[in-house]
Amino acid sequence: GDLLRLRGLGLTYANGTRALDNVDLAVGEGEFLSLLGPSGCGKSTILRLVAGLLAPTTGGVERVRPITRGDTGFVFQEPTLMPWARIIDNVRLPLDLAGVPRAEAQERAEDGLARVGLGDFLRAFPAELSGGMKMRAALARALVTAPRLLLLDEPFAALDEITRLKLNDDLLALWERERFTAIFVTHSVFESVYLSGRIAIMGPRPGRVVEQVTVELPWPRD
Ligand code: ADP
Ligand code: ADP
Repeated sequence: GDLLRLRGLGLTYANGTRALDNVDLAVGEGEFLSLLGPSGCGKSTILRLVAGLLAPTTGGVERVRPITRGDTGFVFQEPTLMPWARIIDNVRLPLDLAGVPRAEAQERAEDGLARVGLGDFLRAFPAELSGGMKMRAALARALVTAPRLLLLDEPFAALDEITRLKLNDDLLALWERERFTAIFVTHSVFESVYLSGRIAIMGPRPGRVVEQVTVELPWPRD
């Protein structure tokens, strides 16, 4: 069934920019959906509306199943780690904020970092890690609360191509294992086809979904 339904979604920013017009889009529970389109077509705006960080001008985001704030994880293009805190403390933060007991939080953060291949870097500081490793830490932090919904806004766009390929595989492996619902914003056709079962293609000015495509790959996704 559906987790989210966007209906007649429109958003005009305070300065008058019409970012979205009449977007209709359903997101299935456990689905990996890509939003594909050129810069400025409103992809980030959709994520902000889904996250509840912005209120729509028209229409709405229906949460078909209950999703609380802690049920949503975010990954942005910048890993946004706290530079003064060790990797383990960065990843543990969402659990600390949620009041999870310290020993349990520590264990879950360590597990999460091991799952993204950073088990040997728990006590490193962000500046000691490569861009790809920082992004893995950001993924671990977004998933440490076991969110139902993961929102990714061009997470790998700043990485070199090889690192990006590897992170695509790692993200798919995490999704296959944990089965969160993912909305992945990208302007890369390659990434959207490789990662997602369905692609919503957006066009600009004002942004709308112009086509939805189901992706069939010659190997099983799960
Ligand atoms: P995308 O993620 O596809 O690059 P965005 O959702 O960031 O697109 O932006 C859609 C449009 O809204 C663009 O024209 C952008 O310049 C504009 N926009 C984005 N954020 C704001 C804002 N806070 N205030 C005004 N205009 C904005
Ligand atoms: P992205 O490419 O990831 O969508 P942008 O470069 O469009 O990011 O936007 C970066 C930041 O600037 C965002 O926080 C967005 O809200 C803001 N922004 C983008 N366009 C505008 C705009 N025209 N006016 C004000 N803020 C904007």
